[in-house]
Amino acid sequence: MARERVVVVGGGLTAARAVESMREQGVDDEIVVVAEEPRLPYERPPLSKGYLAGDEPSSAVYPLDAAWYRDHDVDVRRGVRATQLDTEARTLATDAGELAWDRLLLATGASPRPFDGPGAGLRGVHLLRSLPDSTRLRTALRAGDRRVVVIGSSWIGLEVAAAARTYGNEVAVLGRGEAPLEKAVGRELGDMFAELHREHGVGLRTEVSVSAIEGERGRVRGVVLATGERLPADLVVVGIGATPNVELATSARLTVDDGIVTDASFRTSADGVFAAGDVANVFNPTLGHRLRVEHWDNADASGRAVGRVLAGEQLEYDEIPYFFTDQYDLGMEYSGYGELAERAELVVRGDLARRECIAFRLLEGRVVAGMNVNVWDVNDEVQRLIRSRVPVDPAALADPGVPIPEIGATA
Ligand code: FAD
Repeated sequence: MARERVVVVGGGLTAARAVESMREQGVDDEIVVVAEEPRLPYERPPLSKGYLAGDEPSSAVYPLDAAWYRDHDVDVRRGVRATQLDTEARTLATDAGELAWDRLLLATGASPRPFDGPGAGLRGVHLLRSLPDSTRLRTALRAGDRRVVVIGSSWIGLEVAAAARTYGNEVAVLGRGEAPLEKAVGRELGDMFAELHREHGVGLRTEVSVSAIEGERGRVRGVVLATGERLPADLVVVGIGATPNVELATSARLTVDDGIVTDASFRTSADGVFAAGDVANVFNPTLGHRLRVEHWDNADASGRAVGRVLAGEQLEYDEIPYFFTDQYDLGMEYSGYGELAERAELVVRGDLARRECIAFRLLEGRVVAGMNVNVWDVNDEVQRLIRSRVPVDPAALADPGVPIPEIGATA
């Protein structure tokens, strides 16, 4: 049989895992990765944590090194942007010429949402997505004597605040909600993060909205709140979410709705075209509707899974969303379905005030999410409880004396 060509568009973890998994499955076809950034596919969590804080080298971000791609005959075209997709002719236009393909994966990820008010383009206003973004920010933070204002109190905003404080900068974090991360983890746990940051000297402000970033001679000087209050700043970091990179999909008239729409096997509306990772809005069999997940673990797992699909395997992707963060001396993992957790009761096992606990979310008696804070090696058990959908006894769940494996095991 003639060798076919699989083209992967993307330079993140999803792309890396997809090609790795294809080769592991014995796919012998030609594989070409088209990656806009001038480097091998890489992962992003260290960019707001270890790398930003100066604890990890940039080499830590590459899941596969150059030797792997060479030894596995994967042609990574770095610094090449895909510009137009034709699903009938099965061609991909790039700024370095056209490529024909037999199967194509869109793993184009997401881009940070810029501040949409005045001042977004001033020098000293940072967005954080790429390795150069993190290097620039790290260089600025290293001085340790800056007034840093972080707009957005979600994961990236808080992680940047922690790194900025570690260097000794004065840091303010501005969030719209009543507590940081409220939408992601709920009020009580959001308050826990608020306290953590306040203890580390962050000026955390809740229920505030920024109307403008002010500058002088093209450089940021401060931030203006909707109330008219002005906060001085030498450096502003905007961490207000990301939007999926759907331009190629749109150019090919694929179905797009908050990301590229796919079935549970990553198939888009065009034959032979697949999408995974941050950019994909994938049908989730457990929830019965589509879910777009912007987490490292989803890039890892959906990348591997779509690689198996591209190798010809039939599968339905049904992973429980999983996320982790590290801030100061707090490490946490979260597994579960955020939209169910929003309506669920909180059951804490351990000590929330001391930030050493597992915080479960129970909906109609069943665990729908669980977040372990400075407690380790429990994530598999948390996921087992979620997956089992077995009703559990809240008192047993809250009691550290009852081993988790026994909970729900006999129900
Ligand atoms: P991306 O990593 O966005 O990669 C997409 C790639 O495709 C990019 O390199 C882009 O340049 C390229 N591309 C786009 N369009 C084109 C085109 N037309 N042609 C060629 N190439 C193109 N998740 C967690 O669970 N825990 C964390 O602690 C965590 N920390 C994070 C910290 C930061 C700073 C960031 C930005 C994200 C973090 N995440 C974290 C989220 C996680 O990194 C993402 O879910 C993951 O990067 C998604 O991988 P991806 O490969 O789908 O997309």
